Amino acid sequence: TPDVRPLVAGNWKMNGTRESLTEIKAMAEGVQGALSEKVDALICPPATLLYVATALSTDSPLMIGGQDCHQDASGAHTGDISAEMIADCFGTYVIVGHSERRTDHAETDHLVRAKAQAAHAADLTAIICVGETAGERDAYQTLEVLKRQIFNSVPETATAANTVIAYEPVWAIGTGVTPTADDVEIAHAFMRAELTACLGEEGRRMRILYGGSVKPGNARELMSVENVDGALIGGASLKANDFLAIYRVY
Ligand code: PEP
Repeated sequence: TPDVRPLVAGNWKMNGTRESLTEIKAMAEGVQGALSEKVDALICPPATLLYVATALSTDSPLMIGGQDCHQDASGAHTGDISAEMIADCFGTYVIVGHSERRTDHAETDHLVRAKAQAAHAADLTAIICVGETAGERDAYQTLEVLKRQIFNSVPETATAANTVIAYEPVWAIGTGVTPTADDVEIAHAFMRAELTACLGEEGRRMRILYGGSVKPGNARELMSVENVDGALIGGASLKANDFLAIYRVY
C-alpha cells in the first residue's frame, strides 16, 4: 500500500525458553541497518521471555510484543496477563484474536474487540487476527467471515497507528499450504475496502498482514501482492536466519 510502512512480525506461540534468547539477540542485530528505515520488525515471544527480550533489543529497531492480553487491566483472572503488564515490560504490540485463541479458548469477535480496546488503553498497537476456516472457505464464505470479523473485532477508535490487521486463513496456519497470490489479493482488497468504509483514511493506511505458512521461499511472492503490508509468521519466526530472510525480501 502506498505510504504504508510494512511490518514483519513473528509469533513464537508456546515455544521458547531462555536458550532461545540467542535468536532474539541475533534478530535484534540483524534488523539494524538501512532496511530498518523502511520496514518494521516485531517478535512476540511467550510472556515468560517478554521482559528479557525487550532488554536485549533496547538498542535495536526490533520491537517486542505479547501474544494475547486479557480485556481487563488487572484483577482476579488467574493465569492471564493484561495489556498494561505487556507495556510495563516495554512491549509495544499485542496480538489479539489469533485463531488458536479463538479455538482453544472459545474467543468471540466481541471479546477480541474488547482485547483490542484494552491494548489501545495501554498504548499498545493491537494486531487483530482474522481468517476463515477450511470449512468456511469450502462453503465460499471467506469474504463474509472477514466482513463479520472486521466489523465485530475492530474498535471504532482503531487508527493506522494503533491497529494492524492480520489475515490468517486458519487452514494455512502451520500446514505449509498457502492460498494463491490471487486469493490473497482478493481477500486483502476486500478487507481494505471494508476498513476504508468503516474508518476512512485510517482504514486506507492500516497495515494488513498476511499470515499462514510464510517461509523464506514464498515470502517474496506473498509480500508483493497488492494490499499486503507485511507478514505474521509462526514457525519460520523461531530462527533468526529464517525470520531475517523474510524481513530482507523488502
Ligand atoms: C501464525 O500462527 O500466526 C502463523 C502464521 O503460523 P505459521 O507461520 O507457522 O503458519
